Amino acid sequence: MSDGSGAKKGKGKGMNAYEVAVAQLNRAADAMHLDEQVHTILLQPKNELIVNFPVKMDDGSYKLLKGYRIQHNNIMGPYKGGIRFHHDVHLDEVKALAAWMTWKCAVMEIPFGGAKGGIKFNPREHSPAELERITRRFTHALGNNIGPDHDIPAPDVGTNGQTMVWLMDTYMNFVPQDRKNAVRGVVTGKTLTSGGSQGREKATGQGLVYVVQEWAKENHFPLDGCTFIVQGFGNVGSFAARILSRLGASMIAVQDHTGALRSNEGLHPGRLAEHVRQTGGVAGYAGGEVITREEFFSTECDLFIPAALENQITAETAPLLKCRAVFEGANGPTDIEGEAILASKGIDVVPDILANAGGVTVSYFEWLQNRRAESWTLDEVDERLHRMMVHAYNTVRRVARDRKLDNRTAAYVHALERIQQVYKERGIFP
Ligand code: GLU
Repeated sequence: MSDGSGAKKGKGKGMNAYEVAVAQLNRAADAMHLDEQVHTILLQPKNELIVNFPVKMDDGSYKLLKGYRIQHNNIMGPYKGGIRFHHDVHLDEVKALAAWMTWKCAVMEIPFGGAKGGIKFNPREHSPAELERITRRFTHALGNNIGPDHDIPAPDVGTNGQTMVWLMDTYMNFVPQDRKNAVRGVVTGKTLTSGGSQGREKATGQGLVYVVQEWAKENHFPLDGCTFIVQGFGNVGSFAARILSRLGASMIAVQDHTGALRSNEGLHPGRLAEHVRQTGGVAGYAGGEVITREEFFSTECDLFIPAALENQITAETAPLLKCRAVFEGANGPTDIEGEAILASKGIDVVPDILANAGGVTVSYFEWLQNRRAESWTLDEVDERLHRMMVHAYNTVRRVARDRKLDNRTAAYVHALERIQQVYKERGIFP
């Protein structure tokens, strides 16, 4: 029988991100007896936009690229979510990522819905000039499907503040002169100089560490002197590692698409981040011994921070893990089988829609500052982010304890109850 998701069938191993997202939703819907109509609506995104657009390469040739913007839900506010540049981007992945944004914003109690976008290509193979043309042509193709009160993109895997500024500038060029500055908030995660917020770049890593600190407090676990391992050393992983190490925690292994390293004395997150900035990956960093992916997953440690892509903690890798808790910096790093194995091993999981919500939370602050023509100090941003992460963590933990649910299901239940309430009040038109 169809589950209404439209995702391609498959059980356990090999489930794609959207099947995982649907399984998570269905589990939470059962746990809270979600209204059937609301459940049906949430199983599919509202809008799926796919564009094919040509871009001129530096050598004069043209390349046809495929871009996506999936708008999952906007009952809580404008669609919100990042844009990913990656060679594996595909429809079901972006659909999953868009749905996770809906839950994430609802968990955080910020007035946004969920969306995600992406272009299927490898940004590492392109010059800055090509990246600029790709971004601008994609923005043009999206046209009025985005907007500061409608759908607000942000950075994700393979994109950054510069990408967002190109997007903003292109969008501004399509509005009347006197409206240009009013639409600055069409995108968040911009550079500080072009209308971004203090603290946005580190926000996902910072938010994750605030959650780690709450977890540590709850479990009477000393972070000073503890060990952690990180998968993915991009924006999320590198900031989380740098901030955690300032609390006395030691990063003893790291793994990314270029290789894996281990050092019992601890890898220096700041120096490693600089190496990754220069070379594109952790491989070749002199501060640790080279290990295999399996050895990385098997490293005995206190905390594991997956901060790369989906479906990394699976039936194959979960049995290897020897950690006490997983804090999901990536979106969807744990599949359904992986999650069951973590539970059977007694490993705590703080799910993506809570653990990595610092990014979209500071995006919300950026959007507010743009609207009000304000600029908040870093202390103000951090303090507000801290308050919201602590509140969300404790709310999710309360739901988990009261209803005897795992943290992910509890986070979903909290999000879905808020969304369901709005559907009840507003009804379904006509
Ligand atoms: N791409 C980030 C995420 O997955 C940030 C989204 C945003 O700031 O809108 O949460």
